[in-house]
Amino acid sequence: MPVLVMKFGGTSVATVDKIKRAAKKVGVEVAKGYDVIVIVSAMSGETNKLVGFVNDTSPLYDAREYDAIVSSGENVTAGLMALTLQEMDVPARSWQGWQVPVMTTSAHSSARIEEIPTDNINAKFGEGMKVAVVAGFQGVSPEGRITTLGRGGSDTTAVAFAAAFEADRCDIYTDVDGVYTTDPRVTDKARKLDKIAFEEMLELASLGAKVLQTRSVELAMRYKVRLRVLSSFEEQSDTAGTLVCAEEEIMESNVVAGVAFSRDEAKMTLISVADRPGIAAAIFGPLAEAGVNVDMIVQNISEEGRTDMTFSCPIDQVARAQKAMDEAKARDDINFHDLVADTDVAKVSIVGIGMRSHAGVAAKMFATLRDEGVNIKVITTSEIKTSVLIDRKYMELAVQALHDAFELEKAA
Ligand code: ADP
Ligand code: ASP
Ligand code: MG
Repeated sequence: MPVLVMKFGGTSVATVDKIKRAAKKVGVEVAKGYDVIVIVSAMSGETNKLVGFVNDTSPLYDAREYDAIVSSGENVTAGLMALTLQEMDVPARSWQGWQVPVMTTSAHSSARIEEIPTDNINAKFGEGMKVAVVAGFQGVSPEGRITTLGRGGSDTTAVAFAAAFEADRCDIYTDVDGVYTTDPRVTDKARKLDKIAFEEMLELASLGAKVLQTRSVELAMRYKVRLRVLSSFEEQSDTAGTLVCAEEEIMESNVVAGVAFSRDEAKMTLISVADRPGIAAAIFGPLAEAGVNVDMIVQNISEEGRTDMTFSCPIDQVARAQKAMDEAKARDDINFHDLVADTDVAKVSIVGIGMRSHAGVAAKMFATLRDEGVNIKVITTSEIKTSVLIDRKYMELAVQALHDAFELEKAA
């Protein structure tokens, strides 16, 4: 039997009624002759609530217990989905990550899937089970402890199952009807894309578009999974939503495919560090060891042998970055006058494969922001994206202005 993977996000399983609605969609695919693997998230808000319990109990928590707790939301929805399908006379059962087992690394709270053996589930399909409902977001480490895959990780569970079971398609059901040119919550001019290239989706996801977890896009690209994003609240069809696919499958596309943003950024500036060979290694080595994900970097001009070094990192890593720099200073590895953290910033990025072959795209972005009176604090570019760090209060304005300037509401 051909296999289909269907993933339902938190809003799609937020209540017993919504689970019933999702289960009906599963029933439609079973009737077409598919063996279906359903991946479920926790009910929306549930994972946040569990994270809150952890923080209230133990601010410097044991990450293994964090995973044991925050993974539990998915256990509930997996069981409820299986029961709902059984009520519809569809043979179904639930599977927690460890039962499959979804084998992961031991990097608790951000584990990576290493292997998904297919024999257990395939044996049940062989016995007449039509739907395997799998709790997303969770796995088991080589030590036998429960792990989680990072926030939004059920997307990655879904794609990993699609790859392991060589599914015809991996359908990600969510609260929007596809991938848009930007988050439709920020501008009603956002346009749904029929197709988007893996590379573009990868950049958009990693730059803040949380419609898909970055790792899920990486896996889909590597294993050539046909990945589709569609609404769990609308009528189903084989062509609905957005297909994330190889660049070659897309005939026409805009130079800029989309605008992404992230509120969770901080800008850190080391004031007056000695400008000498090895200074960057002395700063960014300890930051990397401390697990700080440095994104953008600028070294300012040097005066009398001293310079300022600016970098950006996720806002929740500011304290860790500060500690690493203070320790490096105490060891006399680096010498700086002050470390200034600016936590009122946001990153706005434009992404598009067309940027490879079109000059002047970044310049147009900068001119657009100038016309809106938005000051740019840091810039980074790569082959298919340009990102700027700006004051957070201008984030929505910048996204809307860039969406207009690149005429993203119009298809190519
Ligand atoms: P789920 O709970 O189903 O996993 P998420 O909340 O994780 O859903 O992701 C869906 C949300 O992603 C949408 O509601 C939307 O606000 C947001 N989003 C951000 N950028 C985009 C984009 N470019 N296209 C579509 N949705 C986007
Ligand atoms: N429930 C998890 C989260 O909220 C995983 C997911 O929904 O993808 O991050
Ligand atoms: Mg999500």
